[in-house]
Amino acid sequence: MGDDVKRMKIAINGGIGFGAKLNSKQLLTISKYMNEEDELELTTFQQLYIEIPEDKKDEIMEEFKSVGLACYPVGNFVKSLRTCNFCKGEEEEGMPVAKEINRRIAGKAVPFTLKVAYTGCPIGCGEPMLSDIGIMKMRDHYNLYVGGKAKGKDAEVGSLLMEHLTPEELYDTVEKIIAVYSQTGKKRETFYKFLKRIGRDKLIG
Ligand code: SF4
Repeated sequence: MGDDVKRMKIAINGGIGFGAKLNSKQLLTISKYMNEEDELELTTFQQLYIEIPEDKKDEIMEEFKSVGLACYPVGNFVKSLRTCNFCKGEEEEGMPVAKEINRRIAGKAVPFTLKVAYTGCPIGCGEPMLSDIGIMKMRDHYNLYVGGKAKGKDAEVGSLLMEHLTPEELYDTVEKIIAVYSQTGKKRETFYKFLKRIGRDKLIG
């Protein structure tokens, strides 16, 4: 790869599954697009940042996808869903629901990077209480939390917004919250500040 080629940063991971894992085929595919001195950045949100040549981005992302890697934009977008390891099984912990939420929201443009986390039981390994939006499966239903803030001296635990949601109610509510934030949030306003400014009631109308 020549040094004069314009490069762009993208986020990749192995998609939603039993733990945030990568297999050897995925690692080999990623390394094809790295020079010896290049580095991969591991983020706190189960993503790797890699720089790829901008003029080949479509074919590279296709190749990544063909080995099961998921690709997302970097910047002010909804991050891919952070999840727990689904230790009690795919169905019991709602992995299909987590995949559907991710499909609906990841990569949407928002005023500031938005972190959404999912956890399959109240033990909460996916740390939903420390994310902007947190989802916790409670037996057959879902609880929704908002306003968690993991960083800073003023870190805060999110609070319960709605409970006993069905999967459909959950999808609709999460999408609605993100739509309200993208339409009425100020440029570069974090979700935490946005929520303080407008109040929880305005979030879901
Ligand atoms: S949150 Fe519950 S289901 Fe998910 S990995 Fe932790 S203990 Fe297992």
